[in-house]
Amino acid sequence: MPENVSSPSLALCPSCLAQNPAEAHFCSRCNAPMSSMAAIDPIGRLWAQGHMIRKAVHRPDRPIVLAGIWLLFGPSAVALGMKLLAILGSDGYGEPPLESIVTIVVVVLLHGGALALLGTILFSTTRNFLRRRAKAISQE
Ligand SMILES: [Zn+2]
Repeated sequence: MPENVSSPSLALCPSCLAQNPAEAHFCSRCNAPMSSMAAIDPIGRLWAQGHMIRKAVHRPDRPIVLAGIWLLFGPSAVALGMKLLAILGSDGYGEPPLESIVTIVVVVLLHGGALALLGTILFSTTRNFLRRRAKAISQE
């Protein structure tokens, strides 16, 4: 007897159409949430939100997706940039003690890392949106 492809023990991913076990909460190929129970626990919720943001960054289909990413991450990027400029531009009245130099370096590295991450998300989303739009216009 041939194996039934649409057996009840398999479920198709709604995002990439990969076959997964029926009881899977997330797709094994693209990590998309597959069940209504996927995002109930805090880790699952983070995982599902991560999938949504990765999808928005890599395939921003509509202008509202691009605007949403900018509204979500743009203010934080601006605030981090201003904070970083304030830290680097501040005149601490003479030589700071060694402890505060270490603190300043750690704070600058943490802020710089977060700013680089947010900048990468904003840049990649905008670039991918513009590329997809140019491709769609050239195919018309
Ligand atoms: Zn999938």
